[in-house]
Amino acid sequence: MNHIGHYMGGNIVAGTGATGKVFNPATGEQSGTVAMGGADVIDAAVAAANAAWPAWASTPPLRRARVMFKFKEALERATKRIAAAITAEHGKTLADAEGEVQRGIEVVEFACGIPHLLKGEYSEAVATGIDSWSMRQPVGVVAGITPFNFPAMVPLWMIPVALATGNCFILKPSEKDPSASLILAELLAEAGLPKDVFQVVQGGREAVEAIIAHPDIHAISFVGSTPIAESVYRGGTYLGKRVQALGGAKNHLVVMPDADLDQTVDALMGAAYGSAGERCMAVSVAVAVGDAGDRLIEKLAPRVRALKVGPGNDPESEMGPLVTGEHKAKVSGYVDQGVKEGAKLVVDGRGLTLQGYEGGYYVGGSLFDNVTPDMTIYKDEIFGPVLSVVRRNSLGEAIDLINAGKFGNGTAIFTADGGAARGFASSVKIGMVGVNVPIPVPAAFHSFGGWKGSLFGDHHIHGPEGIRFYTRYKAITQRWPNSIRAGAEFTMPQIGR
Ligand code: NAD
Repeated sequence: MNHIGHYMGGNIVAGTGATGKVFNPATGEQSGTVAMGGADVIDAAVAAANAAWPAWASTPPLRRARVMFKFKEALERATKRIAAAITAEHGKTLADAEGEVQRGIEVVEFACGIPHLLKGEYSEAVATGIDSWSMRQPVGVVAGITPFNFPAMVPLWMIPVALATGNCFILKPSEKDPSASLILAELLAEAGLPKDVFQVVQGGREAVEAIIAHPDIHAISFVGSTPIAESVYRGGTYLGKRVQALGGAKNHLVVMPDADLDQTVDALMGAAYGSAGERCMAVSVAVAVGDAGDRLIEKLAPRVRALKVGPGNDPESEMGPLVTGEHKAKVSGYVDQGVKEGAKLVVDGRGLTLQGYEGGYYVGGSLFDNVTPDMTIYKDEIFGPVLSVVRRNSLGEAIDLINAGKFGNGTAIFTADGGAARGFASSVKIGMVGVNVPIPVPAAFHSFGGWKGSLFGDHHIHGPEGIRFYTRYKAITQRWPNSIRAGAEFTMPQIGR
């Protein structure tokens, strides 16, 4: 059986301690084992990274950019291989997996501009004979802890920016689908990244706790569920580390009465059921305003019933299985709960079995109508293909509903009214907003992140915010002895004199 190890010292190493099981969600069969690293493995990785860091930090940004160019080319060549590894362990369709690799490549493209992105500001003559400038320097050894749902894209939100800015990076991927991480390591080595600048430690909670506790890890990027994001943020910041911890979501799409319904239904199908709803930017609530509700349900229900569910490597599949058997049981349990609490189940995705894939973790798409904010299916992040329709009388009521939520990742409005769209974008308390765009994931040269329970920390991820997160700001004020001599000054230095 395939064993997935760590990546350290430029090699894949099996690891000596505990192992976890890796499954193929399409069949339910175990496909391999994964090393489960603990404090000893983190200690060894940090020691190696610390040794590699001074040389990498002092490598000119232009040369670091050249590694990124080669990494981008290597990723392009390996896209299908990475996608196949993702589909085999996560379950999403191959086309969707290729899409996530492409979104990751875009961050590498952004990082190729690092010499420009690291340029500071310079002021001549802040005082007589004194010049001043600012620059940004790498933080040191940093770590990334990533979720199961994007095993290539989310690590690639972090790795290119952290490395291009001159840090050494330790990745702790999800133990559910760890194979893609080793391909990324191999491609970085192929691109010429020096040994130990990038390492992978496989594992779960124990490895994460060791990352938080290690005094030589100076910054942590975390992406995963809200309770763990919050605990990583609290644990890391208490110990003086920089932490950006992105959490879960419950994203609402507002359907205004004047929206183009065919366009809206297409958008909702992809956003609610794509990747079986296992996206932090998935739309799980449609807020139908005014008389939009009945028309929306009428158009949506037949589309949900017609969803093509199947193994991710079948090109006909629109939606693959869920990631694990436990997750399938959890999602079906939420549908049970919705019925019990009085929501109207318009399409029931429970109990789906596929011929030849009876052990796979499949569910069909579910659609609820008349969902109210007190219901469990409204409050919790289900992270499955379950869409709830909530009805509201006005846009103001829809905005109040969204702003009362505990998450703040993404939201969207579908409308033909520019004024309504502008008011919505301005007043909604959410980090990423779409106008007639259902999944408003920012491009790599902007930054990704939510508000409230969807992000703990001060910085969004990748883009300009990522550059700031992975660097420290330094301001230098300079005078040379042959310029004007002021003598000893006992008052606060004043500029402009
Ligand atoms: P998760 O929180 O279970 O796991 C995330 C990471 O934390 C993994 O590496 C895992 O090994 C580790 N981990 C798990 N349990 C831990 C514990 N008790 N202590 C310390 N570390 C632990 O999340 P997941 O199920 O892998 O991913 C799905 C979640 O991630 C969803 O909530 C989704 O919304 C969220 N997500 C958010 C974003 C975003 O950008 N905001 C992006 C992708 C996914």
